[in-house]
Amino acid sequence: MYSNSHLKRSWVEIDLEQLKINLQVYKNFLKDKVDIIAVVKADAYGHGAVIIAKELNKIGIKKFAVSNVEEGIELRNANIEGDILILGYTPIENIELVIKYNLTQTLLNEDYIDLIIEKGYFKLKCEIAIDTGMNRIGLDANEKSRSESIIRKAYDKLKVTGIFTHLSCADSTNEENIDFTMEQIFKFHSIVSCLDDLKLSNIHILNSAGGISYFTKTNYNNLIRLGIILYGLRPSISFELLPSIKPILRWKSVVSMVHKVKSNDFIGYSRNFHVKEELSIATIPTGYADGYPRYLSNKGHVLINGQIAKIVGNICMDQFMIDITNIDNVEIGTEVILIDTDDVNLLSADNVAYSINTIGYEIISNISKRVPRIYIEGE
Ligand SMILES: *Cc1c(COP(=O)(O)O)cnc(C)c1O
Repeated sequence: MYSNSHLKRSWVEIDLEQLKINLQVYKNFLKDKVDIIAVVKADAYGHGAVIIAKELNKIGIKKFAVSNVEEGIELRNANIEGDILILGYTPIENIELVIKYNLTQTLLNEDYIDLIIEKGYFKLKCEIAIDTGMNRIGLDANEKSRSESIIRKAYDKLKVTGIFTHLSCADSTNEENIDFTMEQIFKFHSIVSCLDDLKLSNIHILNSAGGISYFTKTNYNNLIRLGIILYGLRPSISFELLPSIKPILRWKSVVSMVHKVKSNDFIGYSRNFHVKEELSIATIPTGYADGYPRYLSNKGHVLINGQIAKIVGNICMDQFMIDITNIDNVEIGTEVILIDTDDVNLLSADNVAYSINTIGYEIISNISKRVPRIYIEGE
């Protein structure tokens, strides 16, 4: 299937069939009528926003969320249909582009709303962000009447189509976090209930984790902003995925060279790995400039010929080394798996992330542009 030899350095394979399975399993778990805003920010968490959104358009998804105006324009230029909500900041000078490309802007706070009104961008489609405890963006839910009047000001001048908040710890099973999340939901309900007369069409709270854990705790559950679970990863390491939901991305590279390193030599920059007994070493032409985390230096693993091999020495910008002393039949061109689609093994993005104190989101969204994405329909 991969006859293009230029791809045989470092590449990811993305299973579009599994993408659809993840979406369907998630929707089935909730109820059929639930509508999804597919979160395809950051190039669809590294999976390629245009292809992912196209695939989702084909199966009826008509709502998307991105992080900035450039991401929205990229989708429009690829003829993606439906609503595209920009979740973050757009500089005021670029609001014209939001209108031109028929995108929807999140309104961050009163200053931002005032600037937009001052500049006369009355055709702007927008949604109001409410801050219920994340302290990132949004009108303060604790100042209910003040926030309500700001919302009404925006509603009078602009094309306000929705309102939403974001849960900061919906993935947690810690009791205090559960109480906090319930408070966030309650604060949001309290604001939205004053705005019934506006008949806003998009009212949403839940992200991937929220959809699973808080679906029955809110009436505003018919619209869900679904990100990480679409891609088959966990909102956090202890969060159980529904059966049949799996990662859709596998990252592969190859062996570029095999050699022996004798005892008392060192491997890699800073002489970070000291060879005690002679080792067989394979070099892998992928590095931190490809988005492979340097924190895996002397720590991570890869899969080669069905066996686990340890990373030795520091990850370089474009290469790293593995110990293949106990692994047979390794030669130039032998494939290695860096990130696997199996959710439970050592090489799932979530487990690799956990081993270096981060989250799967960061691993997949950091895979750099120079790593080609190859799309497959089932395996
Ligand atoms: C990224 C993001 C999401 C998606 O979160 P997941 O945990 O990936 O489902 C939803 N809402 C907002 C506001 C976001 O920024």
